[in-house]
Amino acid sequence: MLHSLKQIYPTVDIASHIIGEPIRVSWEDDPNFMGVFSNNLPGHYRYQERLYTHFMQDGMDAAHRGIYLAGDGVSWTGGWADGAVTTGLNAVWGVMTQLGGKTSPDNPGPGDRFDELKPLRLP
Ligand SMILES: Cc1cc2nc3c(=O)[nH]c(=O)nc-3n(C[C@H](O)[C@H](O)[C@H](O)COP(=O)(O)OP(=O)(O)OC[C@H]3O[C@@H](n4cnc5c(N)ncnc54)[C@H](O)[C@@H]3O)c2cc1C
Repeated sequence: MLHSLKQIYPTVDIASHIIGEPIRVSWEDDPNFMGVFSNNLPGHYRYQERLYTHFMQDGMDAAHRGIYLAGDGVSWTGGWADGAVTTGLNAVWGVMTQLGGKTSPDNPGPGDRFDELKPLRLP
C-alpha cells in the first residue's frame, strides 16, 4: 500500500507518519464469513427479505415485538455502508412506532410507505 501511495503522492512521505507496527485483521477469519455481499447470494432472498423487513412488527404477536436489528447483517445491500445506515433508520422508525410516535406527514419514515415500496415476499 505504501508503495502504491508513493506512486500517487510522490512528494508525501506517508511512511514516516507510521509510528507502530500495523496490524492486519482479515474478515476471512470471522466465524461464518460469507464473503462480501453476504445475505445477497443466490438462495438468500427469503432470509434477506425477512431480516430486512423485521422492523415492521404490527402484525407480530406482542410477545415477539420489541427487538430491532440494524446494520450489515440485516441489510438489503449487504457489504455497503448505505445498507447499515438505512437499516438504522428502519430500526429507529420501528422503535418510535412501537412507543406510539409518528413522523411528520411532510417527512415520512421508512415504514410509513412500506406497503407501497416493500420488497416482494415470495410464496
Ligand atoms: C474490506 C471492506 C471494504 C469495504 N468497502 C466498502 C465501500 O467501498 N463502500 C461501502 O459502502 N461499504 C464498504 N464496505 C462495507 C461497510 O464497511 C459495511 O457495510 C459497514 O461498515 C457495516 O456497518 P455496520 O455498522 O453494520 O457494521 P460494522 O461496521 O461491522 O460495525 C459492527 C461493530 O460491532 C462491533 N462488535 C461486534 N461484536 C460485538 C460485541 N459482541 N460487543 C460489542 N461490539 C461488537 C464490531 O467491533 C464493530 O465495530 C467494506 C467492507 C469491507 C470489510
